[in-house]
Amino acid sequence: MSPKAVGRLAQLVEHLVYTERVGGSNPSSPTAFSPPILWQYAWRLCAHAAKLRVMTGLSIAIAGCGPAGLAAALLLERQGHSVVIYDQFDNPGPVGSGLMIQPSGLAVLDALGLAGQTLARGARIDGLEGIEETGKVVLHAPYSALGVSGVFGIGIHRASLFDTLYDAARTHGITIETGHAVTGSDLTSAGRRLTFAARAPSPEFDLVVDASGWQTLFDDAPKGVLEFGALWASLPAEPSDPFAGNVLEQRYRRAEQMVGMLPIGTRKGQSSPEAAFFWSLRRDDYAAWAQAPLDAWKDEVLALWPDARVLLDRIESREQLTFARYAHRTLKHPVADRMIAIGDAWHSASPQLGQGANMALLDAWGLSRGLAEGRTLDEKLRLAVSWRRDHVWLYQWVAKLFTPLYQSQTRWHPAIRDHLLAPLSKTWPTSKIQAQLMSGLFGFPLATLGLALPDYEALAAPESDTVSDTVSASALASASRS
Ligand SMILES: Cc1cc2nc3c(=O)[nH]c(=O)nc-3n(C[C@H](O)[C@H](O)[C@H](O)COP(=O)(O)OP(=O)(O)OC[C@H]3O[C@@H](n4cnc5c(N)ncnc54)[C@H](O)[C@@H]3O)c2cc1C
Repeated sequence: MSPKAVGRLAQLVEHLVYTERVGGSNPSSPTAFSPPILWQYAWRLCAHAAKLRVMTGLSIAIAGCGPAGLAAALLLERQGHSVVIYDQFDNPGPVGSGLMIQPSGLAVLDALGLAGQTLARGARIDGLEGIEETGKVVLHAPYSALGVSGVFGIGIHRASLFDTLYDAARTHGITIETGHAVTGSDLTSAGRRLTFAARAPSPEFDLVVDASGWQTLFDDAPKGVLEFGALWASLPAEPSDPFAGNVLEQRYRRAEQMVGMLPIGTRKGQSSPEAAFFWSLRRDDYAAWAQAPLDAWKDEVLALWPDARVLLDRIESREQLTFARYAHRTLKHPVADRMIAIGDAWHSASPQLGQGANMALLDAWGLSRGLAEGRTLDEKLRLAVSWRRDHVWLYQWVAKLFTPLYQSQTRWHPAIRDHLLAPLSKTWPTSKIQAQLMSGLFGFPLATLGLALPDYEALAAPESDTVSDTVSASALASASRS
């Protein structure tokens, strides 16, 4: 008998002893093991087998150790499932620079007991400010327009978000197999197993979660790589820098060029804060940029945003900059037999709206809710997707509509942005809708998932990063029940 089968049998017996014992359900009451009673147990064992198959913890393989994979692992492990994460990286750590944690994503981190740590490692962001080359403010989006007391976003280095989730996963004893480049999966009579490059396949699992990002190998459809990508760098931020400090700042030349900076807090092991600096660049122009003198590019940036000089002076070599490509794609069927896609593996978009990691966290939560409900695995997965599908659909469309307003070569897109949307967004209710869109709350995704916004006042209090696991575990349990 395989260890998995022995485990199942043990759980089955344990369940019967605790729930079907003569004399009631009190686990401490003595059990009368007479032969008729044993027959009764045997009968009930058969009768409950199908039900228990659903109730026992599942064995789950997660492909990908990004925000989606790590959050899903934490949530599923706490539900009693046995989870293994496989990632291609040899040493844990994400590539890239900064991202925004929106109120939607922070709701999930809060339920995980990680909101305080996220804020402690990131930077509080009160809004987004976008200014055209002419000096005209064309995007003014404060979180306060949401009308939620004390609400804010968090700018954070990708590594800090990763460390927060990864450390929690290690604390909970979740197995993370590095150096496993997933190539696909096989469905066998015993479950689904992952296949790897130059390695034997994994054992069979009850469920495989694809959290391997937008380049997922489980979907061979064209990836929809966008025309524009961006150069990113994480640079030291000084108190004397000429920036607001709590704002995501952007400058535009029509929609062809965009430069910006996002405060991203202080990484673990470092003593001073950083800012993420970015410059949008067409994919086709990257080769030319890589050949041209760095100073020529700096002059181009300075012409658009003179204040960026302090940051540019901290870029000494091209190696400090990473070119990121983006893709806009949505997997039509995120559920297959014993398999589900979450995060960017399900849907990805340009980061203009700053939603990707937040959507990934919401998907992970949706998956955990789905697994807690439903009778069969198939039903659980379909529930998980149904609770997320509308929000995903909505944001994929909004991202498709809005991205060209900031990254395109047409003249009419930025004209709409500057002459129609900018004035509109200054008045209610457009100002509130804009804040909802930015916060990830458009379409009310939290209520559907039984999540609530964090208590921002308490979070911003100095002692908030000591939120205990006990508190978060009970929050998690009550959210799962609701
Ligand atoms: C420059 C940039 C800026 C962004 N800014 C924001 C922002 O402000 N806010 C926001 O919310 N989102 C932002 N995003 C998007 C966000 O980073 C993603 O949406 C988010 O990381 C998706 O999480 P994920 O876990 O689904 O995928 P990923 O973070 O891509 O993680 C996938 C994981 O899978 C692993 N993997 C991939 N292929 C394999 C394989 N074959 N085998 C094994 N492992 C594999 C990878 O190593 C990685 O660890 C930005 C993205 C970029 C590139």
